[in-house]
Amino acid sequence: MKLIIASNNAHKLIEIKDILGGMFDEIVSMKEAGIDHETVEDGKTFMENAVKKAREIAEISGCWAIADDSGICVDALDGAPGIYSARFSGRHGDDKANNRLLLEKLEGVEDRGAHYTCAIALVGPEGSIYEAEGYMYGSIGFEEKGSNGFGYDPLFILPEEGGLTAAQISPEEKNRISHRSQALHRLLQEIGKEK
Ligand code: IMP
Repeated sequence: MKLIIASNNAHKLIEIKDILGGMFDEIVSMKEAGIDHETVEDGKTFMENAVKKAREIAEISGCWAIADDSGICVDALDGAPGIYSARFSGRHGDDKANNRLLLEKLEGVEDRGAHYTCAIALVGPEGSIYEAEGYMYGSIGFEEKGSNGFGYDPLFILPEEGGLTAAQISPEEKNRISHRSQALHRLLQEIGKEK
């Protein structure tokens, strides 16, 4: 069985191959599969977007496909930016501007609790669907710290890491505790239940 990862992000490819490697004969990126396709992410939830992405790739390729959608949800902002995390400031993927805007919105706010969410969907060529979500809890700091990771990591303080931000811990440690790795492990359990 061949699995196509609906992403060309190198970090995601490695993590997914690591965790699901034993379940498929071959795991390839969209690029390796020769698929050039952009899904319109217009779902109302992380999971709707993940399912849409995986379903489209499964339909195009006739193979199994896996996709994820993730973001940060801030308690004091009623869960925003949520599914709009990548384009919070208006420009897609502008991490610096996104972090600046988040700090602005939290000026004078004491409750700085937040969590990352990752939704993962695995869709079969005949339309079967497996879904799983993972979370990583922490709080938003007052300034950026650290240079590892990406996105909101320099602002995201992890209580279980002694107050370091997600950009101050090693990539290996982040992969061990991340919302994405938790979602992938839960997905593995879901698949295992039916096998
Ligand atoms: P996507 O799921 O790859 O589209 O990511 C959505 C956005 O959520 C990213 O652009 C980041 O802004 C944010 N995000 C998701 N996961 C993380 C993370 O582990 N660290 C930092 N930012 C993240």
